[in-house]
Amino acid sequence: MDDIFWKAGYLSLFIIWFCIQVYYGKQSAVNKVKEKVRPGFESFLVGLHFIGLTLPLLVVLTPFLDSFAIPLPEPVRFIFLIIFALNIWLFVVAHRDLGMNWSAILEIREGHRRVTTGIYRHIRHPIYAHFWIWVIAQGIVLANALVLVFGIIAGGILYFFRVPKEKEMLIAEFGDEYRNYMKVSGRVIPKF
Ligand code: SAH
Repeated sequence: MDDIFWKAGYLSLFIIWFCIQVYYGKQSAVNKVKEKVRPGFESFLVGLHFIGLTLPLLVVLTPFLDSFAIPLPEPVRFIFLIIFALNIWLFVVAHRDLGMNWSAILEIREGHRRVTTGIYRHIRHPIYAHFWIWVIAQGIVLANALVLVFGIIAGGILYFFRVPKEKEMLIAEFGDEYRNYMKVSGRVIPKF
């Protein structure tokens, strides 16, 4: 298959994903912030992850990263393109269920509700699960080593610094309710 197929496939899905992010981001932005946890560091983590998510645009739109191309079998790339597309569904469902409680950095909103229904009933971090799938799939679809490695490292740094702090913040806010919720749900792999 021609290179343009993978690039167009990736770019169309990225644009759809970006619109979904803007849509939900705008919705939750009207919900006032009550408390921010280490906002500077969290913004740095999100920024790093954002570079990992937008690096593929350099592959799609410029020849700068062509030297990092890796030979991957087309059926593998195709399977990951399907996974990449289906993963957008996970993003939508998680955002729909988390609603106004979503934030890019660690925040507690006014009237913050503990969400334990919908997809959150089984998994505490569906959006982070979505990002794990995303950073692996984007590198394979575009068959680019730099995109793959940088995306995984940047996403991994965000994940491993973020999750313990998020847990601490939500326990401080919701106490035993959140501790009990942790017992019946999985972190990024659903528990049934
Ligand atoms: N970790 C979740 C949410 C990511 S957005 C996921 O991966 O889907 C980050 C914000 O979500 C945090 O600032 C926190 O306030 C909020 N949050 C995370 N889990 C929550 C829950 N169960 N109920 C309510 N808010 C939650």
